[in-house]
Amino acid sequence: MLTDSVLTVRELQMTFPGGREGLRRRPGVKAVDGLSFDVRAGETLGLVGESGCGKSTTGRMLVRLLDPTGGRVEFQGQDITRLGQRELRPLRSRLQIIFQDPFASLNPRQTVQQIIAAPLRAQGVATAEIRREVRDLVRLVGLAPEHLERYPYQFSGGQAQRIGIARALATRPALVVADEPVSALDVSIQAQIVGLLERLQRELGVAYLFIAHDLAVVKHISHRVAVMYLGRIVEIGDKAQVYGDPAHPYTKALLSAVPLPDPAAERARERIVLLGDPPSPANPPSGCTFHPRCPQAQQICRTEAPLLQIAGPGRREVACHFPQNAAH
Ligand code: SF4
Repeated sequence: MLTDSVLTVRELQMTFPGGREGLRRRPGVKAVDGLSFDVRAGETLGLVGESGCGKSTTGRMLVRLLDPTGGRVEFQGQDITRLGQRELRPLRSRLQIIFQDPFASLNPRQTVQQIIAAPLRAQGVATAEIRREVRDLVRLVGLAPEHLERYPYQFSGGQAQRIGIARALATRPALVVADEPVSALDVSIQAQIVGLLERLQRELGVAYLFIAHDLAVVKHISHRVAVMYLGRIVEIGDKAQVYGDPAHPYTKALLSAVPLPDPAAERARERIVLLGDPPSPANPPSGCTFHPRCPQAQQICRTEAPLLQIAGPGRREVACHFPQNAAH
């Protein structure tokens, strides 16, 4: 565990029960299979991967909207993995979540004032102070005081997400899990929300676990990046290292599909096309689960699962028997 870590995750697992097939029960589905990572105070850790890789399930387990089936989650040094809902209540103010669909996460029958005030009310903050705080918060996220008496349906998607952010930050959390917070928004609005999250981090010192499938957005906002494939982390390290010198063949393939701003560089760059679709977590391949799609796969990859371990300089870790670029 790092001394400055706000969140410590060790061997986290989620196995969903298998359905019934006649009289037989199918085996469970391992959506998350032994994740270990830390989020440091005040940083942004990006968590990326294709849809269905287990990243949103991970986010929900970290804030205990889902109960892990294995492993451990420590928040600010306290093991929260098996706390009951009553014991979790005082922690909710310091550990918040922002969802992908802002409208689905806002109560349509409440005004903006009521929505943002709710977490403060739950903390027993005095009414006069709540009024002051809520006015400050709407300004902080770029909305106007006259918006306070309106309802969610009267806002655009970007504005609704600002309301969700204000609610998440109302109690000055140490960590916010942002689960695809911009993927439902237009590109120009995405940039505004990402800019807002960055500014709030500078002003409030909050840490983010930023979950997304869009590598360009993750590159912009993150200090460190973790790449997930089929329920496991395959590469984690500083953004500059992971993006500039990827060591796992899956990271390389994902990055080769991100459009480059320079048209000449875009034409010259080699695109790595992966074979087939990601396998089902209900029936994962043996050994390295990436081997059926990996251009570098060797015999050992079919039988032995690689461990996540330090590869090359820095603290970058890679789960591959043959990491690329790891020697320099
Ligand atoms: Fe590819 Fe083998 Fe590395 Fe897996 S362990 S990513 S199959 S080279």
